[in-house]
Amino acid sequence: MKLYDALDARRVVLMALAILIGCSTDLAADEPVAFEKPRMLMLTQSKGYRHGSVNRGGQLMAPAEKAMKRLADSTGLFEIDFSQDAATHITKENLKNYSLVAFYTSGDLPIAESDLKYLLEDWIKKPGHGFLGFHSASDTYKGNQIYWDFIGGSFTGHPWNQNTKVTLKVHDAEHPAMKPFGTEFQITEEIYQYTNWQPEKVRVLMSIDMAKTKLKRPYHVPVAWVKPVGQGHLFYTNLGHRPDTWENEKFIKSIEGAVRWIQGKESGASTPNPDVSAAHHEASKNASEAGGVSAKSLEAERREQELRKALREKRKAESKDKAKANK
Ligand SMILES: [Zn+2]
Repeated sequence: MKLYDALDARRVVLMALAILIGCSTDLAADEPVAFEKPRMLMLTQSKGYRHGSVNRGGQLMAPAEKAMKRLADSTGLFEIDFSQDAATHITKENLKNYSLVAFYTSGDLPIAESDLKYLLEDWIKKPGHGFLGFHSASDTYKGNQIYWDFIGGSFTGHPWNQNTKVTLKVHDAEHPAMKPFGTEFQITEEIYQYTNWQPEKVRVLMSIDMAKTKLKRPYHVPVAWVKPVGQGHLFYTNLGHRPDTWENEKFIKSIEGAVRWIQGKESGASTPNPDVSAAHHEASKNASEAGGVSAKSLEAERREQELRKALREKRKAESKDKAKANK
């Protein structure tokens, strides 16, 4: 698949200009434009569920890609290339061109094992390097411990579907990636819950405020977090399921803040805060129980659903048998 290369586009413009003003095109092509800015490689390949936000649908770019291109162009913080071909572009050789990598991916990607290890264990640790995980980046490589240990958690269901309004509590409103949200933020968005969650390794920046959200669950549900990896940094956000989230100014500003933080242009803490996770677990439990939702009631609900499903299947089988007998 073709790598959309903003640099190529610039070269074309430069060469066209050179032709217009009559100078050598070679000179223009040799202009040292390639590494004047940090470059980001954004991977939007889906090997599991494919989100509308990363579906190009015959266009050059998907909604999430368009938003990231606009951010790159308007801030000048980085150049950006897009790929939906991990096997070709997430390689040790190609990663030399980038200090930023973003994943809006799903499923088991076709990255060579040695290249994946290089990305997550070497490349990321370099100063100025950063990984940005969007939404289903946590629904990627769920069976691969190297990956989920790196990203900090694995998707396991979304009780809050894409039409649910949630209130999010910001824990560190001073962090550049959170400043645009203030201390509280409401959004209609699909929100994940996680397994493999390791609060001792990450700094949670934002969680569901269970007391202020109608659909309750009696446990902590983190929504965005950061962590240091060697001298590099990781930023993950659950947001971005809906294409219109990519038009939400606060969300885009938060990505800008994350990039500025990764690049050291703005400071923000990355010390893990498991105490916040523990406190939110308690608060979520209390708020849910007050609303009639407990671990016990959820378990009872689950059993009832299973029972109903078994009953439906039994009836179906019985009516099939009857139909057969009547033939
Ligand atoms: Zn989603």
